[in-house]
Amino acid sequence: MLLTEFIRESEKNQMIAAILKDHKVRVRVVYKSIKDYAYYVFGKGILEISNKKGVIRNEKDFIITVLHETWHAVQATKMGWKKLRDAYEMEISKWQLENPKDMAGWMRDKRKAISFENEAEKYAQKNWKQWYNKFKKQNLI
Ligand SMILES: [Zn+2]
Repeated sequence: MLLTEFIRESEKNQMIAAILKDHKVRVRVVYKSIKDYAYYVFGKGILEISNKKGVIRNEKDFIITVLHETWHAVQATKMGWKKLRDAYEMEISKWQLENPKDMAGWMRDKRKAISFENEAEKYAQKNWKQWYNKFKKQNLI
């Protein structure tokens, strides 16, 4: 399994640690075989990252994913995780009220439905390249 992985777990851990440290957030990282890229567990401060084959396909995907989830940790730190959770759920409810025939539809395009998702993804898209270059120089990728 490890032989076919595009980045080894030790390199992944070093990159994640560098990004988290730079954002001054405390997060515990767990690798899980999930079909979503990653998941930030509100309140527990746990970042689950998929190690399922074919989900995160390359270095760019990986860095964007880590930055996106790190930004959720930053949001949680800024607002307090309970406030963030409530505000997040409020936006889901609002979306569902406006789309009563498609209650789960917000999950298809989270960026459209939820401002916190839009913000995290924008942040990741804007900043992945500088981290990519940095990690390349350090021979992590
Ligand atoms: Zn997100």
